[in-house]
Amino acid sequence: MIKFALRCARGHEFHSWFQSSEAFDTQVKSGLVPCPLCQVTEVTKAIMAPAVAGRGEAEPAQPPAQAHLQTKVALLDRHDRKSREMIDAFRRRIFAEADDVGSRFAEEARKIHNGVVPERAIHGQASIGDARALIEEGVPVLPVPPSPDEYN
Ligand SMILES: [Zn+2]
Repeated sequence: MIKFALRCARGHEFHSWFQSSEAFDTQVKSGLVPCPLCQVTEVTKAIMAPAVAGRGEAEPAQPPAQAHLQTKVALLDRHDRKSREMIDAFRRRIFAEADDVGSRFAEEARKIHNGVVPERAIHGQASIGDARALIEEGVPVLPVPPSPDEYN
């Protein structure tokens, strides 16, 4: 495929792809290459299109790199908005009432579960492996759902 820069009899410039230079000649002679702006089929090759952004068919600008970063999102319907409120309430209660044990979470959760220390609500950080191990041991842990605000 060859890309040709073309110009119609009225001076409009546009680009089009052709199998070959011969295919271009044949198609133009047959009136099969109309100008996209005015439909005039009298078109000639302009100078070969250099890869320069300018008038006409400029290359689309590269979006900023951040546009590629993706996050899981969901559009909430009425039912889910209620869940969202429950999640928010749950988060507020956890962070307001539960004891923040930080990175000692797994250790502390086991102590509570095994009755080594009095039962209380705690929150903190655990690796996925630790959280999985705790769940397998029957310790009632729950990953705290992230707040949408945390994505900001
Ligand atoms: Zn034209």
